[in-house]
Amino acid sequence: MTQSISGNKIRSDFISFFEEKSHTFVPSSSLVPGGDQTLLFTNAGMVQFKDVFLGTDRRPYSRATNSQKCMRVSGKHNDLDDVGRDNTHHTFFEMLGNWSFGDYYKKEAIAWAWELLTEVWGIDKNQLWATCFKDEKGEIPADEEAFESWKSQPGMRTDHILFFGRKDNFWEMADTGPCGPCSEIHIDRGEEFCDKKNIEGHVCQVNGDCARFLELWNLVFIQYNRTSPKDLSPLPATHVDTGMGFERIVSVLQDVDSNYKTDLLLPLMDVVMMLCGQNEEERENNLTPYRVIADHCRAASFLIADGVVPGNIGRNYICRMIIRRASRFGAKLGLDDPFLAKVAESVIDIYGDAYPELVKNAKTITDSLTREEKKFHSTVEGGLAILESYIENLKASGNTQLNGEKAFDLYATHGLPLEITKDVLRERSLLVDQEGFFEAMEAHRVNSGAGKEFGELGGEDAEFYANIAAGLIEHGDLFPEGVIQDPYGANEVETEIVSIIKDKQEVKILKEGESGEFILKETNFYIESGGQVSDVGQVSSKNYENLFLISDIRKPSSGVVVHVGEVEQGEFHTGSKVKISFDSDRRQDIRRNHTATHLLQYQLREVLGDHVRQAGSLVAPDRLRFDFTHPEAMTREQIKMIEDRVNEKILENSPVSISQKKLDEALAEGATALFGEKYGEDVRTISIGAGNPYSYELCGGTHVSETGEIGVFLITSESSAAAGIRRIEAVTGRKAYSLIKKRFNTIDAISDLLETSANSVEEIVKNILHQKTILEDELRSLREKEAIARYQTEKQNAEVVDDIVLLPLFFEGIPISILRQLADIFRNDFEKGLAIFGSLVEEGKVQFVVTASDSVVKMGVHAGEIAKAIAKEIGGSGGGRPNLAQAGGNDYDKLLKVKLSEYVKKLG
Ligand code: ATP
Ligand code: MG
Repeated sequence: MTQSISGNKIRSDFISFFEEKSHTFVPSSSLVPGGDQTLLFTNAGMVQFKDVFLGTDRRPYSRATNSQKCMRVSGKHNDLDDVGRDNTHHTFFEMLGNWSFGDYYKKEAIAWAWELLTEVWGIDKNQLWATCFKDEKGEIPADEEAFESWKSQPGMRTDHILFFGRKDNFWEMADTGPCGPCSEIHIDRGEEFCDKKNIEGHVCQVNGDCARFLELWNLVFIQYNRTSPKDLSPLPATHVDTGMGFERIVSVLQDVDSNYKTDLLLPLMDVVMMLCGQNEEERENNLTPYRVIADHCRAASFLIADGVVPGNIGRNYICRMIIRRASRFGAKLGLDDPFLAKVAESVIDIYGDAYPELVKNAKTITDSLTREEKKFHSTVEGGLAILESYIENLKASGNTQLNGEKAFDLYATHGLPLEITKDVLRERSLLVDQEGFFEAMEAHRVNSGAGKEFGELGGEDAEFYANIAAGLIEHGDLFPEGVIQDPYGANEVETEIVSIIKDKQEVKILKEGESGEFILKETNFYIESGGQVSDVGQVSSKNYENLFLISDIRKPSSGVVVHVGEVEQGEFHTGSKVKISFDSDRRQDIRRNHTATHLLQYQLREVLGDHVRQAGSLVAPDRLRFDFTHPEAMTREQIKMIEDRVNEKILENSPVSISQKKLDEALAEGATALFGEKYGEDVRTISIGAGNPYSYELCGGTHVSETGEIGVFLITSESSAAAGIRRIEAVTGRKAYSLIKKRFNTIDAISDLLETSANSVEEIVKNILHQKTILEDELRSLREKEAIARYQTEKQNAEVVDDIVLLPLFFEGIPISILRQLADIFRNDFEKGLAIFGSLVEEGKVQFVVTASDSVVKMGVHAGEIAKAIAKEIGGSGGGRPNLAQAGGNDYDKLLKVKLSEYVKKLG
């Protein structure tokens, strides 16, 4: 065993080993699964090949190998509770895999795994164990084929091949669909690794739940299709899907006792150790925070590189949560200033060659981390203090579970993610009501109108539609790859209704006035993707006497497209020949906005710099919205400059060309690709500009043929979308024209009011404003004079209690400076006095001063305390010195009712 072999070398050894066996290297897909609504994060190597197994996607190769970026912090696979507490589970990790799509099967997969582990990497054969499938229910045949293959491997010990049941050794993608037995390779790391020695009845064995036996590699053999909980049918072609934990194999080959001691993660813990000034022994005694920081910082760096920045919901929430969690563990080590950027630099260093997106986005990564840490620091103390008070209450009442709404409030108003609340509670042996937390979060998300952006993850009805499609394919009503989609062709297409769905049931007929869904053999509708919204339109019978209006279109399951709508006229039957057409004016508006989005992105990079990357976009008929990475608000000049330049490109009338290419070729030519977008081998590219195009993007959207068609482009707003992300909204074409018209009309209306021409409006308004200032100044000085005059009268009649003159006096429209002036005069006038001067400075905004003469202060009156108490009454805050204090609030009527005598009486 070589001790010096680096992690990067191990990764490339794995890839080369399989490349030599005719596998095609397929780069890792993004952590954000493209086009898959059912998953928050890519959590295994197979995610990008899912459709190949389902038969709805084909690849030009039948053998593949890769190293896939994975995250397991949500949903079915959530390892967060183990991360930092053990040595072998991470939130982010890499999964090495080899794949056969209807090509080789068990014999080869097992032989190659054995060869790589024992021959190439020289792992001691006596340490390795293999598991095979044997159904505890006796319904599915045991995997004797795998068992025999293992037995025939040179040096494999038969007593090291074990059978296990469904939980460990049968793999299923979902409740239905491709599935099959799997075979796992475990390594015995030696007795000293057992962490359960003190637990009575513990037996060290494979799947025995201690750290001695470590699962390294899972070989999945896909050979069945599950059609119901009881029924499996053999697949026409069988597949291999394997996944090996990269960090785990590196720890074995580098002969260290933890993933965190490999050259992948140790340098990150070293940075932390250096920053907090501990030594190795101290680190060893306090490993959890080190491990959490190294793990979470690596995960956050990869997430940000894939465009997932910290935020409030969905994926963005996870990014925020892990950064904040790392930050809190940092605080436990005494790291009170932002420090994660330093750790991230080391991540980029170690992983930059294998994952160039880290290098490309280095600045965004470090900036986002620091910004998020600062944000967290500014709120965390308050949050933790409140949590402490909740804990006290829990303990006092003998309760062990914190209410979910409270936990959500800690997050929503004090920035404390649920997972941190859980950490803190766990440290005191308490729990939190997680369900309640998510209910509160959901309610908040709905109330705040966050929309369905990440709301509809889950794909609950995927199975229902997958079953319908399977039946249709079987009867030849659909092509094997499902509904044929071509959104780029003619506006009217003749096709056939193959299924009608009403109230989640297949029906034969849909009548006038009824709502339902149609599955057609083919469709020319564009389905929401890449930010471009779906088309709307209609299905009609040949002579248009029957009409179904389509309001939405969706893809609930791979290969299935449903048109959602209502029968406007007549009726429709399954099997009817129909015509489908989209609303073409609306489509043209969308095209304009989409091409304009590309022009905008190009100019943003030109004007602001290369750090600009798309972070989300919406292409709708009436507007476009573009989110991008940029650390600060744009200046007005920058916005104008970009708007001008986009319009220049429109006037140039550049040709827009679309072509189909191989992904590699397009990327080599410098096409801009998007994170989170899943690209197949063949991609569609959009280039703008004759000859040498200036804009070149991978894009599946619909576009104009020449930029002139856009008409005009107007930016309507520039704002912040999230930390480090700016948002531009703009309009084009018809919408821009109507906006211009509207502005013209407004100016015309104003000039009519001012009885002048449009050209002189500005000058005249300036004059009016100037006069207004003069008049306001005059008014103010009059009011001031009046205020002082009123004071002079009122002070004669002031109430006297216990020798103290009490004067409450209130005004409207008097600035605070005058109130302070009155306070000075008052203290001069009265040796023993207490006064309040208040003013309604503007609608809903009250200010006041409280003043007390020195001798009254000596008696114990404190103007600051009085001001504070009154402010509290009127919904504000303030305070000050014993003789003079200032405060504000919003309830003028309540202020009028203030009784100074109460504050004097309290003395007695
Ligand atoms: P375990 O039981 O150890 O959690 P698993 O059964 O969840 O593993 P698989 O889904 O089969 O794992 O994934 C394939 C391989 O990926 C595993 O054999 C393991 O080496 C690795 N792996 C799984 N989860 C993690 C994780 N959270 N961190 C690091 N490696 C992991
Ligand atoms: Mg697991």
